[in-house]
Amino acid sequence: MSAFLDARSLPRDTILTPDLAIVGGGPAGISLALALAESGQKLLLLEAGGLGFDASAQKLYQGSESGVAYPALDGGRLRYLGGSTNHWGGWCRPLDEIDFESRPGLPYSGWPFSRRELVPYFARAQALVEAGPWIYDGADEAMSENGPMLSLGPGGVYTSWFQFSKTRDGVLPTHFGDRYRDDLKKAANVTPLLNANVMGIRLSRDALKVDHLEVATLSGNRLTVRPRFTVLAAGAMENARLLLASNDVMTAGVGNGNDLVGRFFADHPIPRDVATLVLFDGRMASYYTNNMTLPNGAVLRAALSPRAEFLRRSNVAGSLTTVENEAKLDPFATAAVVTTAQALGVDASRAKAFSLGCGMELAPDPDRRLTLDHARDALGMPRLSLAMTISDDDFLHFRETLAELGRQLLAARSGMIHLSYSRRQEWMAAMDWGNHHLGTTRMSEDPKRGVVDADGRVHGLANLYAAGSSVFPTYGSSNPTLNLVALTLRLADHLKKAMA
Ligand SMILES: Cc1cc2nc3c(=O)[nH]c(=O)nc-3n(C[C@H](O)[C@H](O)[C@H](O)COP(=O)(O)OP(=O)(O)OC[C@H]3O[C@@H](n4cnc5c(N)ncnc54)[C@H](O)[C@@H]3O)c2cc1C
Repeated sequence: MSAFLDARSLPRDTILTPDLAIVGGGPAGISLALALAESGQKLLLLEAGGLGFDASAQKLYQGSESGVAYPALDGGRLRYLGGSTNHWGGWCRPLDEIDFESRPGLPYSGWPFSRRELVPYFARAQALVEAGPWIYDGADEAMSENGPMLSLGPGGVYTSWFQFSKTRDGVLPTHFGDRYRDDLKKAANVTPLLNANVMGIRLSRDALKVDHLEVATLSGNRLTVRPRFTVLAAGAMENARLLLASNDVMTAGVGNGNDLVGRFFADHPIPRDVATLVLFDGRMASYYTNNMTLPNGAVLRAALSPRAEFLRRSNVAGSLTTVENEAKLDPFATAAVVTTAQALGVDASRAKAFSLGCGMELAPDPDRRLTLDHARDALGMPRLSLAMTISDDDFLHFRETLAELGRQLLAARSGMIHLSYSRRQEWMAAMDWGNHHLGTTRMSEDPKRGVVDADGRVHGLANLYAAGSSVFPTYGSSNPTLNLVALTLRLADHLKKAMA
Protein backbone atom coordinates (compact mmCIF):
# COMPACT_ATOMS: atom_id res chain seq x y z
CA MET A 1 0.00 0.00 0.00
CA SER A 2 1.41 3.43 -0.90
CA ALA A 3 0.40 6.29 1.36
CA PHE A 4 -0.30 9.75 0.02
CA LEU A 5 2.84 11.86 -0.07
CA ASP A 6 2.85 15.61 0.50
CA ALA A 7 5.11 17.66 -1.77
CA ARG A 8 5.58 20.22 1.01
CA SER A 9 7.41 17.71 3.19
CA LEU A 10 9.76 16.14 0.63
CA PRO A 11 13.40 17.39 0.75
CA ARG A 12 13.91 20.43 -1.49
CA ASP A 13 15.00 19.61 -5.06
CA THR A 14 13.99 15.96 -4.74
CA ILE A 15 14.02 14.28 -8.16
CA LEU A 16 11.30 11.71 -8.78
CA THR A 17 11.54 9.28 -11.70
CA PRO A 18 8.21 7.53 -12.34
CA ASP A 19 7.35 5.70 -15.55
CA LEU A 20 4.25 7.84 -15.87
CA ALA A 21 3.48 11.24 -14.35
CA ILE A 22 -0.25 12.05 -14.27
CA VAL A 23 -0.79 15.77 -13.76
CA GLY A 24 -4.09 16.28 -11.93
CA GLY A 25 -6.20 14.16 -9.61
CA GLY A 26 -9.70 14.82 -10.95
CA PRO A 27 -11.86 12.13 -12.56
CA ALA A 28 -9.55 11.89 -15.58
CA GLY A 29 -6.34 11.55 -13.53
CA ILE A 30 -7.84 9.20 -10.94
CA SER A 31 -9.48 6.97 -13.59
CA LEU A 32 -6.17 6.76 -15.45
CA ALA A 33 -4.19 5.90 -12.30
CA LEU A 34 -6.65 3.17 -11.30
CA ALA A 35 -6.77 1.74 -14.82
CA LEU A 36 -2.97 1.47 -14.92
CA ALA A 37 -2.45 0.41 -11.30
CA GLU A 38 -1.81 -3.20 -12.30
CA SER A 39 0.29 -2.38 -15.37
CA GLY A 40 3.58 -2.93 -13.54
CA GLN A 41 4.63 0.67 -14.28
CA LYS A 42 5.47 3.17 -11.53
CA LEU A 43 2.83 5.92 -11.54
CA LEU A 44 3.07 9.32 -9.88
CA LEU A 45 -0.25 11.17 -9.52
CA LEU A 46 0.59 14.85 -9.05
CA GLU A 47 -2.31 16.74 -7.48
CA ALA A 48 -2.05 20.51 -7.02
CA GLY A 49 -4.38 20.58 -4.02
CA GLY A 50 -4.76 18.54 -0.87
CA LEU A 51 -7.56 16.33 0.36
CA GLY A 52 -9.94 19.24 0.93
CA PHE A 53 -10.69 22.81 -0.14
CA ASP A 54 -8.01 25.39 0.56
CA ALA A 55 -8.61 29.03 -0.39
CA SER A 56 -4.96 29.80 -1.20
CA ALA A 57 -4.71 26.81 -3.57
CA GLN A 58 -8.04 27.77 -5.16
CA LYS A 59 -6.76 31.31 -5.83
CA LEU A 60 -4.19 29.84 -8.25
CA TYR A 61 -7.18 29.30 -10.58
CA GLN A 62 -8.08 33.01 -10.80
CA GLY A 63 -7.96 34.62 -14.25
CA SER A 64 -9.42 37.44 -16.30
CA GLU A 65 -12.22 37.50 -18.88
CA SER A 66 -13.52 39.48 -21.81
CA GLY A 67 -16.51 39.14 -24.15
CA VAL A 68 -19.67 37.40 -23.07
CA ALA A 69 -20.21 37.24 -19.29
CA TYR A 70 -18.99 33.92 -17.92
CA PRO A 71 -18.40 32.48 -14.40
CA ALA A 72 -15.11 33.51 -12.75
CA LEU A 73 -12.30 31.13 -13.71
CA ASP A 74 -11.82 30.16 -10.06
CA GLY A 75 -15.58 29.79 -9.56
CA GLY A 76 -16.42 26.95 -11.95
CA ARG A 77 -13.80 24.41 -10.90
CA LEU A 78 -12.08 23.12 -7.74
CA ARG A 79 -8.38 22.63 -7.12
CA TYR A 80 -8.06 19.64 -4.80
CA LEU A 81 -8.16 15.85 -5.04
CA GLY A 82 -11.27 14.87 -7.04
CA GLY A 83 -11.17 18.17 -8.94
CA SER A 84 -14.51 19.59 -10.02
CA THR A 85 -16.38 16.39 -9.11
CA ASN A 86 -16.24 17.86 -5.59
CA HIS A 87 -19.17 20.03 -6.72
CA TRP A 88 -20.52 18.40 -9.90
CA GLY A 89 -24.20 17.60 -10.42
CA GLY A 90 -23.73 13.96 -11.44
CA TRP A 91 -25.76 14.26 -14.68
CA CYS A 92 -24.52 11.60 -17.11
CA ARG A 93 -25.32 10.81 -20.72
CA PRO A 94 -23.13 9.26 -23.42
CA LEU A 95 -22.25 11.33 -26.48
CA ASP A 96 -24.33 10.50 -29.55
CA GLU A 97 -22.96 9.09 -32.79
CA ILE A 98 -23.52 12.39 -34.58
CA ASP A 99 -21.32 14.20 -32.04
CA PHE A 100 -18.31 12.44 -33.60
CA GLU A 101 -19.22 13.23 -37.23
CA SER A 102 -17.64 15.87 -39.38
CA ARG A 103 -20.69 17.87 -40.46
CA PRO A 104 -20.55 20.22 -43.44
CA GLY A 105 -22.88 22.72 -41.73
CA LEU A 106 -20.80 22.80 -38.55
CA PRO A 107 -17.28 24.05 -39.36
CA TYR A 108 -14.39 22.45 -37.43
CA SER A 109 -16.64 19.58 -36.32
CA GLY A 110 -15.72 15.91 -36.13
CA TRP A 111 -13.55 13.52 -34.14
CA PRO A 112 -10.80 11.40 -35.73
CA PHE A 113 -12.87 8.30 -34.88
CA SER A 114 -16.49 7.32 -34.45
CA ARG A 115 -18.45 6.64 -31.25
CA ARG A 116 -17.70 2.92 -31.73
CA GLU A 117 -14.20 3.58 -30.34
CA LEU A 118 -15.65 4.60 -26.96
CA VAL A 119 -18.34 1.93 -26.69
CA PRO A 120 -16.01 -0.73 -25.18
CA TYR A 121 -15.14 1.71 -22.37
CA PHE A 122 -18.61 2.98 -21.49
CA ALA A 123 -19.49 0.18 -19.04
CA ARG A 124 -16.34 0.73 -16.94
CA ALA A 125 -16.78 4.50 -17.10
CA GLN A 126 -20.38 4.09 -15.96
CA ALA A 127 -19.13 2.02 -13.00
CA LEU A 128 -16.49 4.63 -12.09
CA VAL A 129 -19.02 7.48 -12.09
CA GLU A 130 -21.42 5.16 -10.19
CA ALA A 131 -24.41 5.84 -12.41
CA GLY A 132 -25.89 2.33 -12.00
CA PRO A 133 -26.79 -0.08 -14.79
CA TRP A 134 -26.36 1.28 -18.34
CA ILE A 135 -29.87 2.15 -19.56
CA TYR A 136 -30.10 5.65 -21.09
CA ASP A 137 -32.18 5.54 -24.29
CA GLY A 138 -33.26 1.98 -23.53
CA ALA A 139 -35.41 3.38 -20.70
CA ASP A 140 -38.66 4.12 -22.56
CA GLU A 141 -40.49 0.91 -21.66
CA ALA A 142 -39.54 0.76 -17.98
CA MET A 143 -40.17 4.46 -17.42
CA SER A 144 -43.51 4.64 -19.25
CA GLU A 145 -44.90 2.30 -16.57
CA ASN A 146 -44.58 5.33 -14.30
CA GLY A 147 -46.64 7.64 -16.50
CA PRO A 148 -47.06 8.38 -20.20
CA MET A 149 -44.17 9.76 -22.21
CA LEU A 150 -44.88 13.01 -24.05
CA SER A 151 -47.02 12.37 -27.09
CA LEU A 152 -45.12 13.83 -30.04
CA GLY A 153 -45.99 13.68 -33.72
CA PRO A 154 -43.35 12.57 -36.22
CA GLY A 155 -40.36 14.90 -36.36
CA GLY A 156 -36.90 15.76 -35.14
CA VAL A 157 -37.26 15.67 -31.35
CA TYR A 158 -37.61 12.65 -29.05
CA THR A 159 -37.55 11.79 -25.34
CA SER A 160 -33.99 10.89 -24.30
CA TRP A 161 -32.63 9.97 -20.87
CA PHE A 162 -30.05 11.15 -18.37
CA GLN A 163 -28.73 8.92 -15.63
CA PHE A 164 -27.24 10.18 -12.39
CA SER A 165 -24.14 9.43 -10.41
CA LYS A 166 -24.88 8.66 -6.78
CA THR A 167 -22.85 7.46 -3.86
CA ARG A 168 -23.70 4.14 -2.33
CA ASP A 169 -25.83 5.86 0.31
CA GLY A 170 -27.93 7.03 -2.61
CA VAL A 171 -27.68 10.73 -1.89
CA LEU A 172 -24.86 12.65 -3.56
CA PRO A 173 -22.97 12.29 -6.83
CA THR A 174 -19.64 10.54 -6.58
CA HIS A 175 -16.84 12.83 -5.45
CA PHE A 176 -13.86 11.12 -7.06
CA GLY A 177 -11.33 12.17 -4.40
CA ASP A 178 -13.32 10.83 -1.45
CA ARG A 179 -14.64 7.80 -3.27
CA TYR A 180 -11.31 6.54 -4.69
CA ARG A 181 -8.88 7.76 -2.00
CA ASP A 182 -8.54 4.28 -0.45
CA ASP A 183 -8.24 2.58 -3.86
CA LEU A 184 -5.37 4.93 -4.70
CA LYS A 185 -3.71 4.12 -1.36
CA LYS A 186 -4.10 0.39 -1.95
CA ALA A 187 -2.64 0.50 -5.48
CA ALA A 188 0.93 -0.71 -5.04
CA ASN A 189 2.34 1.09 -8.08
CA VAL A 190 0.55 4.42 -7.65
CA THR A 191 2.07 7.23 -5.60
CA PRO A 192 -0.33 10.13 -5.12
CA LEU A 193 1.57 13.34 -4.36
CA LEU A 194 -0.55 16.13 -2.88
CA ASN A 195 0.04 19.90 -2.94
CA ALA A 196 2.23 19.35 -5.98
CA ASN A 197 1.64 22.14 -8.52
CA VAL A 198 3.15 21.32 -11.88
CA MET A 199 4.49 24.66 -13.09
CA GLY A 200 6.30 23.83 -16.28
CA ILE A 201 6.81 21.10 -18.87
CA ARG A 202 10.48 21.19 -19.83
CA LEU A 203 11.44 19.62 -23.15
CA SER A 204 14.58 17.91 -24.35
CA ARG A 205 16.87 20.16 -26.44
CA ASP A 206 15.55 18.73 -29.69
CA ALA A 207 12.02 19.58 -28.47
CA LEU A 208 10.83 16.07 -29.35
CA LYS A 209 9.98 14.87 -25.86
CA VAL A 210 9.37 15.90 -22.28
CA ASP A 211 12.56 15.90 -20.24
CA HIS A 212 11.15 16.89 -16.85
CA LEU A 213 8.33 18.64 -15.01
CA GLU A 214 8.87 21.47 -12.55
CA VAL A 215 6.81 21.18 -9.39
CA ALA A 216 6.26 23.86 -6.76
CA THR A 217 4.35 24.12 -3.49
CA LEU A 218 2.77 27.19 -1.97
CA SER A 219 5.07 26.67 1.03
CA GLY A 220 8.10 27.35 -1.20
CA ASN A 221 9.33 23.82 -1.91
CA ARG A 222 10.59 22.85 -5.38
CA LEU A 223 10.79 19.34 -6.90
CA THR A 224 11.68 17.84 -10.26
CA VAL A 225 9.88 14.93 -11.89
CA ARG A 226 11.63 13.05 -14.71
CA PRO A 227 8.97 10.69 -16.09
CA ARG A 228 9.20 8.44 -19.11
CA PHE A 229 5.67 9.50 -20.05
CA THR A 230 3.41 12.37 -18.97
CA VAL A 231 -0.36 12.78 -19.14
CA LEU A 232 -1.90 16.20 -18.53
CA ALA A 233 -5.20 15.66 -16.70
CA ALA A 234 -5.50 19.06 -15.05
CA GLY A 235 -8.86 20.06 -16.57
CA ALA A 236 -9.53 21.79 -19.89
CA MET A 237 -8.45 25.23 -18.69
CA GLU A 238 -5.32 24.14 -16.85
CA ASN A 239 -4.13 21.70 -19.55
CA ALA A 240 -4.00 24.67 -21.95
CA ARG A 241 -2.36 26.92 -19.35
CA LEU A 242 0.43 24.42 -18.68
CA LEU A 243 1.19 24.00 -22.38
CA LEU A 244 1.10 27.75 -23.10
CA ALA A 245 3.18 28.69 -20.04
CA SER A 246 5.89 26.13 -20.88
CA ASN A 247 7.41 28.38 -23.54
CA ASP A 248 11.15 28.22 -22.93
CA VAL A 249 12.00 25.84 -25.81
CA MET A 250 8.91 26.22 -28.00
CA THR A 251 8.28 29.94 -27.66
CA ALA A 252 4.56 29.74 -28.46
CA GLY A 253 4.16 27.03 -25.83
CA VAL A 254 4.44 23.25 -25.91
CA GLY A 255 2.35 21.71 -28.71
CA ASN A 256 1.35 25.15 -29.93
CA GLY A 257 3.25 25.31 -33.22
CA ASN A 258 -0.04 25.83 -35.04
CA ASP A 259 -1.51 28.33 -32.58
CA LEU A 260 -4.30 25.99 -31.50
CA VAL A 261 -3.70 25.51 -27.77
CA GLY A 262 -6.41 27.34 -25.81
CA ARG A 263 -8.59 27.99 -28.87
CA PHE A 264 -12.06 26.41 -29.31
CA PHE A 265 -12.82 26.67 -25.59
CA ALA A 266 -16.44 25.67 -25.03
CA ASP A 267 -19.06 25.04 -22.40
CA HIS A 268 -22.77 24.26 -22.42
CA PRO A 269 -24.88 27.39 -22.00
CA ILE A 270 -27.91 26.73 -19.82
CA PRO A 271 -30.40 29.52 -20.44
CA ARG A 272 -33.36 29.35 -18.04
CA ASP A 273 -37.09 29.43 -18.89
CA VAL A 274 -36.45 29.19 -22.63
CA ALA A 275 -40.06 28.31 -23.41
CA THR A 276 -43.38 27.38 -21.86
CA LEU A 277 -44.73 23.97 -22.78
CA VAL A 278 -48.48 23.43 -22.40
CA LEU A 279 -49.96 19.94 -22.19
CA PHE A 280 -53.67 20.00 -23.02
CA ASP A 281 -54.46 17.08 -20.71
CA GLY A 282 -52.08 18.40 -18.01
CA ARG A 283 -50.51 14.95 -17.48
CA MET A 284 -46.77 15.44 -17.26
CA ALA A 285 -45.05 12.27 -15.98
CA SER A 286 -42.94 13.13 -12.96
CA TYR A 287 -39.75 11.69 -14.54
CA TYR A 288 -39.69 14.75 -16.83
CA THR A 289 -39.60 17.21 -13.94
CA ASN A 290 -37.67 15.15 -11.34
CA ASN A 291 -35.23 12.28 -11.04
CA MET A 292 -36.82 8.85 -10.67
CA THR A 293 -35.15 5.78 -9.16
CA LEU A 294 -35.86 2.40 -10.76
CA PRO A 295 -35.95 -0.80 -8.63
CA ASN A 296 -32.50 -1.72 -10.02
CA GLY A 297 -31.09 1.47 -8.46
CA ALA A 298 -30.64 3.49 -11.66
CA VAL A 299 -31.70 7.12 -11.33
CA LEU A 300 -33.13 8.61 -14.52
CA ARG A 301 -34.64 11.82 -15.81
CA ALA A 302 -36.21 12.49 -19.19
CA ALA A 303 -35.07 15.25 -21.52
CA LEU A 304 -35.93 16.23 -25.09
CA SER A 305 -33.22 15.72 -27.64
CA PRO A 306 -32.98 16.50 -31.36
CA ARG A 307 -32.57 13.43 -33.58
CA ALA A 308 -29.41 13.06 -35.68
CA GLU A 309 -31.37 13.35 -38.97
CA PHE A 310 -32.89 16.63 -37.81
CA LEU A 311 -29.48 18.01 -36.78
CA ARG A 312 -27.97 17.05 -40.12
CA ARG A 313 -30.89 18.31 -42.20
CA SER A 314 -31.23 21.62 -40.36
CA ASN A 315 -27.52 22.28 -39.69
CA VAL A 316 -28.40 22.66 -36.05
CA ALA A 317 -26.11 22.02 -33.05
CA GLY A 318 -27.18 19.70 -30.22
CA SER A 319 -29.26 20.48 -27.16
CA LEU A 320 -30.98 18.73 -24.29
CA THR A 321 -34.20 20.39 -23.16
CA THR A 322 -35.48 19.70 -19.68
CA VAL A 323 -38.94 20.22 -18.22
CA GLU A 324 -38.70 22.32 -15.08
CA ASN A 325 -41.41 23.81 -12.84
CA GLU A 326 -45.11 24.16 -13.43
CA ALA A 327 -45.70 27.68 -14.81
CA LYS A 328 -48.58 30.12 -14.62
CA LEU A 329 -50.07 31.37 -17.88
CA ASP A 330 -51.05 35.01 -18.26
CA PRO A 331 -54.49 35.81 -19.77
CA PHE A 332 -53.08 36.18 -23.32
CA ALA A 333 -51.32 32.82 -23.14
CA THR A 334 -54.45 31.21 -21.67
CA ALA A 335 -56.47 32.59 -24.59
CA ALA A 336 -53.91 31.17 -27.04
CA VAL A 337 -54.16 27.74 -25.40
CA VAL A 338 -57.97 27.75 -25.46
CA THR A 339 -58.20 28.87 -29.09
CA THR A 340 -55.49 26.44 -30.25
CA ALA A 341 -57.20 23.55 -28.45
CA GLN A 342 -60.53 24.53 -30.01
CA ALA A 343 -58.95 24.63 -33.47
CA LEU A 344 -57.50 21.16 -32.87
CA GLY A 345 -60.78 19.87 -31.41
CA VAL A 346 -59.27 18.84 -28.06
CA ASP A 347 -60.27 19.52 -24.47
CA ALA A 348 -57.90 21.93 -22.71
CA SER A 349 -59.88 22.35 -19.49
CA ARG A 350 -57.15 20.51 -17.51
CA ALA A 351 -54.23 22.08 -19.39
CA LYS A 352 -51.05 22.69 -17.43
CA ALA A 353 -48.00 24.74 -18.38
CA PHE A 354 -44.35 23.96 -17.63
CA SER A 355 -41.22 26.03 -17.96
CA LEU A 356 -38.43 24.51 -20.11
CA GLY A 357 -34.70 24.71 -19.48
CA CYS A 358 -31.87 23.39 -21.59
CA GLY A 359 -28.20 22.63 -22.13
CA MET A 360 -27.03 23.83 -25.54
CA GLU A 361 -24.07 22.80 -27.65
CA LEU A 362 -21.94 25.68 -28.91
CA ALA A 363 -20.57 25.47 -32.44
CA PRO A 364 -16.74 25.23 -32.39
CA ASP A 365 -15.22 28.74 -32.51
CA PRO A 366 -11.44 29.32 -32.70
CA ASP A 367 -11.90 32.81 -31.23
CA ARG A 368 -13.47 31.50 -28.05
CA ARG A 369 -10.10 31.25 -26.49
CA LEU A 370 -7.81 30.99 -23.47
CA THR A 371 -4.51 32.88 -23.58
CA LEU A 372 -1.94 33.80 -20.95
CA ASP A 373 -2.47 37.00 -19.00
CA HIS A 374 0.32 39.35 -17.90
CA ALA A 375 -0.69 38.84 -14.26
CA ARG A 376 0.93 35.98 -12.36
CA ASP A 377 -0.29 33.76 -9.54
CA ALA A 378 1.35 33.24 -6.14
CA LEU A 379 3.68 30.62 -7.64
CA GLY A 380 4.74 32.94 -10.47
CA MET A 381 2.75 31.23 -13.23
CA PRO A 382 0.97 33.44 -15.79
CA ARG A 383 -2.77 33.51 -15.15
CA LEU A 384 -5.33 32.68 -17.83
CA SER A 385 -7.43 35.11 -19.77
CA LEU A 386 -10.65 33.92 -21.40
CA ALA A 387 -12.22 35.56 -24.46
CA MET A 388 -15.78 34.17 -24.35
CA THR A 389 -18.14 34.17 -27.31
CA ILE A 390 -21.59 32.89 -28.12
CA SER A 391 -23.02 33.53 -31.56
CA ASP A 392 -26.56 34.45 -32.57
CA ASP A 393 -26.57 31.21 -34.59
CA ASP A 394 -26.05 29.21 -31.40
CA PHE A 395 -29.35 30.62 -30.08
CA LEU A 396 -31.05 30.32 -33.47
CA HIS A 397 -30.16 26.62 -33.69
CA PHE A 398 -31.72 25.90 -30.33
CA ARG A 399 -34.82 27.97 -31.20
CA GLU A 400 -35.28 25.81 -34.30
CA THR A 401 -35.19 22.69 -32.14
CA LEU A 402 -37.82 24.17 -29.80
CA ALA A 403 -39.97 25.14 -32.80
CA GLU A 404 -39.70 21.56 -34.08
CA LEU A 405 -40.84 20.29 -30.66
CA GLY A 406 -43.81 22.69 -30.88
CA ARG A 407 -44.76 21.35 -34.33
CA GLN A 408 -44.63 17.77 -33.03
CA LEU A 409 -46.87 18.59 -30.04
CA LEU A 410 -49.43 20.22 -32.34
CA ALA A 411 -49.25 17.30 -34.77
CA ALA A 412 -50.01 14.92 -31.90
CA ARG A 413 -52.72 17.33 -30.65
CA SER A 414 -51.17 16.92 -27.21
CA GLY A 415 -49.89 20.41 -26.50
CA MET A 416 -48.13 23.51 -27.69
CA ILE A 417 -45.12 25.69 -26.98
CA HIS A 418 -44.56 29.38 -26.43
CA LEU A 419 -40.96 30.43 -27.07
CA SER A 420 -39.65 32.94 -24.55
CA TYR A 421 -36.76 34.66 -26.30
CA SER A 422 -35.93 35.87 -29.77
CA ARG A 423 -33.47 38.72 -29.14
CA ARG A 424 -29.88 38.15 -28.06
CA GLN A 425 -30.28 40.36 -24.97
CA GLU A 426 -33.16 38.19 -23.80
CA TRP A 427 -31.11 35.00 -24.10
CA MET A 428 -28.14 36.60 -22.39
CA ALA A 429 -30.24 37.85 -19.48
CA ALA A 430 -31.37 34.27 -18.78
CA MET A 431 -27.93 32.72 -19.23
CA ASP A 432 -26.30 30.24 -16.91
CA TRP A 433 -23.44 27.82 -17.71
CA GLY A 434 -22.75 24.14 -17.16
CA ASN A 435 -19.12 24.69 -16.15
CA HIS A 436 -18.25 21.92 -18.61
CA HIS A 437 -14.90 23.12 -19.88
CA LEU A 438 -14.10 21.66 -23.28
CA GLY A 439 -12.03 21.84 -26.43
CA THR A 440 -8.77 23.65 -25.60
CA THR A 441 -6.38 20.90 -26.77
CA ARG A 442 -8.63 19.46 -29.48
CA MET A 443 -8.05 16.10 -31.08
CA SER A 444 -7.29 15.67 -34.79
CA GLU A 445 -4.97 13.50 -36.85
CA ASP A 446 -3.91 16.71 -38.64
CA PRO A 447 -1.54 18.86 -36.51
CA LYS A 448 -2.91 21.92 -38.31
CA ARG A 449 -6.37 21.15 -36.92
CA GLY A 450 -5.63 19.64 -33.54
CA VAL A 451 -3.23 19.71 -30.61
CA VAL A 452 -3.38 15.98 -29.86
CA ASP A 453 -3.66 13.00 -32.18
CA ALA A 454 -6.31 10.26 -32.04
CA ASP A 455 -4.46 8.61 -29.12
CA GLY A 456 -4.39 11.84 -27.12
CA ARG A 457 -0.66 12.36 -27.75
CA VAL A 458 0.48 15.95 -28.27
CA HIS A 459 1.54 16.25 -31.91
CA GLY A 460 5.31 16.27 -32.30
CA LEU A 461 6.08 15.02 -28.78
CA ALA A 462 6.85 11.38 -28.19
CA ASN A 463 5.85 11.12 -24.52
CA LEU A 464 3.27 13.82 -23.72
CA TYR A 465 -0.50 13.20 -23.69
CA ALA A 466 -3.63 15.08 -22.68
CA ALA A 467 -6.70 13.56 -21.03
CA GLY A 468 -10.11 15.00 -20.24
CA SER A 469 -12.59 17.10 -22.16
CA SER A 470 -9.86 19.49 -23.36
CA VAL A 471 -9.38 17.02 -26.23
CA PHE A 472 -13.05 17.01 -27.38
CA PRO A 473 -13.08 18.60 -30.87
CA THR A 474 -16.90 18.67 -31.05
CA TYR A 475 -18.75 18.72 -27.79
CA GLY A 476 -22.30 17.42 -28.20
CA SER A 477 -24.78 18.47 -25.57
CA SER A 478 -24.23 15.52 -23.19
CA ASN A 479 -22.49 16.30 -19.92
CA PRO A 480 -18.80 15.51 -20.32
CA THR A 481 -17.62 13.49 -17.34
CA LEU A 482 -18.87 9.99 -18.22
CA ASN A 483 -17.46 10.51 -21.73
CA LEU A 484 -14.09 11.86 -20.64
CA VAL A 485 -13.68 8.96 -18.22
CA ALA A 486 -14.41 6.51 -21.08
CA LEU A 487 -11.88 8.30 -23.29
CA THR A 488 -9.32 8.16 -20.46
CA LEU A 489 -9.79 4.39 -20.13
CA ARG A 490 -9.10 4.14 -23.86
CA LEU A 491 -5.93 6.19 -23.30
CA ALA A 492 -4.93 3.77 -20.51
CA ASP A 493 -5.07 0.87 -22.98
CA HIS A 494 -2.92 2.81 -25.42
CA LEU A 495 -0.37 3.66 -22.69
CA LYS A 496 -0.11 0.04 -21.55
CA LYS A 497 1.29 -0.78 -24.99
CA ALA A 498 3.29 2.44 -25.44
CA MET A 499 5.03 2.11 -22.05
CA ALA A 500 5.71 -1.65 -22.26
C1 LIG B 1 -20.79 23.19 -10.58
C2 LIG B 1 -20.41 22.10 -11.57
C3 LIG B 1 -21.35 21.12 -11.90
C4 LIG B 1 -21.00 20.12 -12.81
N1 LIG B 1 -21.93 19.17 -13.11
C5 LIG B 1 -21.62 18.20 -13.98
C6 LIG B 1 -22.56 17.17 -14.28
O1 LIG B 1 -23.67 17.15 -13.74
N2 LIG B 1 -22.19 16.21 -15.17
C7 LIG B 1 -20.97 16.21 -15.77
O2 LIG B 1 -20.71 15.33 -16.58
N3 LIG B 1 -20.05 17.15 -15.48
C8 LIG B 1 -20.35 18.14 -14.60
N4 LIG B 1 -19.41 19.09 -14.30
C9 LIG B 1 -18.10 19.03 -14.97
C10 LIG B 1 -17.16 18.04 -14.29
O3 LIG B 1 -16.93 18.41 -12.97
C11 LIG B 1 -15.89 17.99 -15.13
O4 LIG B 1 -16.22 17.48 -16.42
C12 LIG B 1 -14.81 17.07 -14.55
O5 LIG B 1 -14.55 17.33 -13.20
C13 LIG B 1 -13.52 17.24 -15.36
O6 LIG B 1 -12.60 16.28 -14.93
P1 LIG B 1 -11.02 16.44 -15.12
O7 LIG B 1 -10.39 15.37 -14.34
O8 LIG B 1 -10.71 16.55 -16.56
O9 LIG B 1 -10.69 17.88 -14.50
P2 LIG B 1 -10.88 18.46 -13.03
O10 LIG B 1 -12.07 17.89 -12.38
O11 LIG B 1 -10.80 19.93 -13.18
O12 LIG B 1 -9.61 17.94 -12.25
C14 LIG B 1 -8.33 18.46 -12.51
C15 LIG B 1 -7.43 18.20 -11.32
O13 LIG B 1 -6.13 18.66 -11.64
C16 LIG B 1 -5.59 19.38 -10.56
N5 LIG B 1 -4.65 20.35 -11.13
C17 LIG B 1 -4.93 21.49 -11.79
N6 LIG B 1 -3.81 22.11 -12.16
C18 LIG B 1 -2.78 21.35 -11.73
C19 LIG B 1 -1.37 21.47 -11.82
N7 LIG B 1 -0.76 22.51 -12.42
N8 LIG B 1 -0.58 20.51 -11.24
C20 LIG B 1 -1.17 19.42 -10.63
N9 LIG B 1 -2.51 19.28 -10.53
C21 LIG B 1 -3.30 20.22 -11.09
C22 LIG B 1 -6.79 20.01 -9.89
O14 LIG B 1 -6.54 20.32 -8.54
C23 LIG B 1 -7.86 18.93 -10.06
O15 LIG B 1 -7.88 18.04 -8.98
C24 LIG B 1 -19.71 20.11 -13.40
C25 LIG B 1 -18.76 21.08 -13.04
C26 LIG B 1 -19.11 22.07 -12.13
C27 LIG B 1 -18.09 23.10 -11.77
